[in-house]
Amino acid sequence: MKCKKCNSRAIANLKQYKIALCEKCYPKFYESLVKRSIKKYGILRKDERILTAVSGGKDSVALAKVLKNLGYEIEMLYIDLGIREYSKRCKNVVEELSETIDVDLNVLKLSDFGFTIDDVEMRKVCSACGTAKRYLMNKFARENKFDIIATGHTSEDLTSFAIKNIVGGNFGWIEKLKPRIESFDEKIIPKARPLFERKEKENMLYVLTLKLPFSTESCPNAPINDWKEIVYEIERRKIGFNQNFVRGLINAKKLAKLDVKYCKICGEVTTSDMCAFCKLVKRYSKN
Ligand code: AMP
Ligand code: ZN
Repeated sequence: MKCKKCNSRAIANLKQYKIALCEKCYPKFYESLVKRSIKKYGILRKDERILTAVSGGKDSVALAKVLKNLGYEIEMLYIDLGIREYSKRCKNVVEELSETIDVDLNVLKLSDFGFTIDDVEMRKVCSACGTAKRYLMNKFARENKFDIIATGHTSEDLTSFAIKNIVGGNFGWIEKLKPRIESFDEKIIPKARPLFERKEKENMLYVLTLKLPFSTESCPNAPINDWKEIVYEIERRKIGFNQNFVRGLINAKKLAKLDVKYCKICGEVTTSDMCAFCKLVKRYSKN
């Protein structure tokens, strides 16, 4: 199999795009795909200061590198959630990444708030972790004058999340699955998902061809995600399913209106009297 662009030995045959590419031509092709998504859906602007949230996994590593290569103004943020040795190993990876791609890295530690994810009961771990990440990303971005937060969510992430919620009869979330979410309050920083049309395999191939450091470890707390497995299976049988699905979501009408309140403890935006993060601090903090 030969590379369609330069005739060297191809390392990947991308059936969906009907193209085989070599190690040198694939990264350029990948970057052109991301560039096209950003332009078509107005996901980011060149004059925005972008805070890129990196976990050390292939998706967010690919995100940081592709945004840097496309000429965006970015810094990275890693949140150390204090998950046993796992969080430390991921932190080492993003520190190495920061050197390799020459992008500044900011690190926040949940332990500075008096607790870690290891202090949370097993059955509440994933929701506490999600709450802490969203809260800290938003607050850090706002206080450091970033215009937008970019995350490495993939088409499989968004599709599996949407299907799970639709099956659960929960439609309020559909609005949150767009590639760019504008702010609904001055305390909330807009969010961008520049990789929303990308598949995990495409991100993997990008970090491998560029030999970027990344972690292959999954979170020790993460349960097996059946919805993800189902989504992989649908994609196997129907190539392009994920991309069609996430593009379709963009047109979903706003179905639920949010009622904005401010937390009585910290003043961040919430839908009740005390925000979900302060409830975590109250319950678990040793300070
Ligand atoms: P996840 O919620 O683990 O599926 O991750 C979704 C996205 O959130 C990743 O692509 C990253 O952009 C971001 N993210 C996840 N974990 C962290 C972390 N510990 N620190 C900073 N960003 C993270
Ligand atoms: Zn080539």
